[in-house]
Amino acid sequence: MLAVEDLSFAYRKGAEELFGGLTYEFTAGAITAVTGPSGRGKSTLLYVLGLLLTPNRGAVLLNGQDISSAPDTVRSRVRAQRVGFVFQDSALDPTRTVLDSVLEPALYAGSTLAQARRRGRELLNDMGLGSRADHRPGEISGGQAQRVALCRALVTDPMVILADEPTGNLDRDNAARVLAALSAAAGSGEQGVGRTVLIATHDPFVIEQADEVLAL
Ligand code: ADP
Ligand code: MG
Repeated sequence: MLAVEDLSFAYRKGAEELFGGLTYEFTAGAITAVTGPSGRGKSTLLYVLGLLLTPNRGAVLLNGQDISSAPDTVRSRVRAQRVGFVFQDSALDPTRTVLDSVLEPALYAGSTLAQARRRGRELLNDMGLGSRADHRPGEISGGQAQRVALCRALVTDPMVILADEPTGNLDRDNAARVLAALSAAAGSGEQGVGRTVLIATHDPFVIEQADEVLAL
């Protein structure tokens, strides 16, 4: 279970304080849309939840444990094994094949190459991208690239998925496809509990279909 308690963050001393002491429990198995005007801290909240930034007040709790103040080595391990990121620009390495991009996080998380390849191919097949596994990012569309980014986020079978404006540059059909994939991911977590999926967005289409909305 992912939660925050009395959470605040500032990029530096004296800078604007974000989140204002936010306390919130995210629901596993559901999609939560994180909304709010540009500059309110949607992306920053994902970075804090994903342990890339450390809060200056309050805590990020994972299964009841304050993980935000854990030592760096613990945070890195939790990030690699439990968290999947879909970044805003979904920039894939242009020199690698789609499959190699997808399986990379699994290698960081400790999978063997054979395991990672198997899981990577499975995810690409599920996402209708099986025939693109050996292509380079320059040879696929924006909508397909966003789904590849999602496969990359799922390859470690994380309990938390953090997606930053994943439909930002997509037409409605592709946005619907990405959302369906995120929704399937939310419902398919370990032991029937479901994953916690957060989408930072101001896309009304996504907000309407989300199970919960956290307005910053
Ligand atoms: P949103 O995603 O809601 O548009 P952000 O999380 O990107 O908001 O930004 C929140 C605030 O933090 C903004 O005022 C932004 O200018 C500031 N900010 C974002 N990234 C940095 C950074 N790396 N260094 C300093 N300030 C930043
Ligand atoms: Mg943002």
